[in-house]
Amino acid sequence: MKNKELFAIFGNPVKHSRSPLMHNHVFKQLHYNACYTRIHLEDGTKLKETFFEQKLSGANITVPHKEAAYKACDEVRGFAKKIGVVNTLINENGRLIGYNTDADGFLFAIEEFENIQKVLIIGAGGTAKALSMKLQDAGLKVSVLNRSKGNLEYFKTGGFETFSWDNCPLDTYDLVVNTTSAGLSDENYPAPLELLRPLLQKCSYAADAIYGKITPFLKLCKDLDITYKDGADMLLGQGVLANNYFTKEKFSLQEIKKQMQKSFEF
Ligand code: NDP
Repeated sequence: MKNKELFAIFGNPVKHSRSPLMHNHVFKQLHYNACYTRIHLEDGTKLKETFFEQKLSGANITVPHKEAAYKACDEVRGFAKKIGVVNTLINENGRLIGYNTDADGFLFAIEEFENIQKVLIIGAGGTAKALSMKLQDAGLKVSVLNRSKGNLEYFKTGGFETFSWDNCPLDTYDLVVNTTSAGLSDENYPAPLELLRPLLQKCSYAADAIYGKITPFLKLCKDLDITYKDGADMLLGQGVLANNYFTKEKFSLQEIKKQMQKSFEF
């Protein structure tokens, strides 16, 4: 019998991650001989050696190592190549292959939001890159707001309108998305309240990439009576696509989604 395959999620922090629960449930229900664990990683440059030391077949990467994951790859495929951000790794005969499933996961998550044309992305990290590029490719007008100006350079080069806290106009957006890690393990807003509140007051929809808790951003959306969602559907969307790579397309996306969705009931 073939040895059990081992998968993991790398991150810092990583203990909040639901990925082990989601993937293990799919492996079990679809009788795929594999197990998925978490690895707390401080230093992103140690990603590749840790991956091979642990004899992993594949992995997911979360905050803050997605750009380090891109650098660690022997080959990057698809959309990940365009944005330089990898959230899924596959061991292909000893070579590290990188993909990005976050952006398509997010598109899946906002399917039910109607008439979205103008989007404000808050944050300028790996998730912001994935989402903004994907939305721009889909023909939407995307602006990016971030705490530090330095990290906005990538977006300026990519033709996005960019703002920092001191020069952001109070424009009207159809959708405002928090892709920062503010609120993940603290109680911070992703931007000062005097800026965030009027921006949210004028928008139709809001989404947070963070899942599993009502972040201060989501609490504000709730108080302002905006239609919002947390990052759970995005998590599901990216997880289904990652699992499809892990299981080498042995199962349909529908089969994986059906099982993975059930793990959210636990
Ligand atoms: P990165 O580390 O690449 O980027 C973090 C971003 O957050 C930076 O723009 C940083 O700003 C900003 N930031 C951090 N702290 C604060 C703060 N206190 N106030 C304002 N801005 C802040 O992270 P990722 O892009 O990889 O992930 C971001 C979030 O998205 C995480 O919470 C992660 O869990 C979540 N996520 C969820 C997914 C899902 O499936 N639901 C998938 C992917 C990510 P600066 O540039 O100034 O440092």
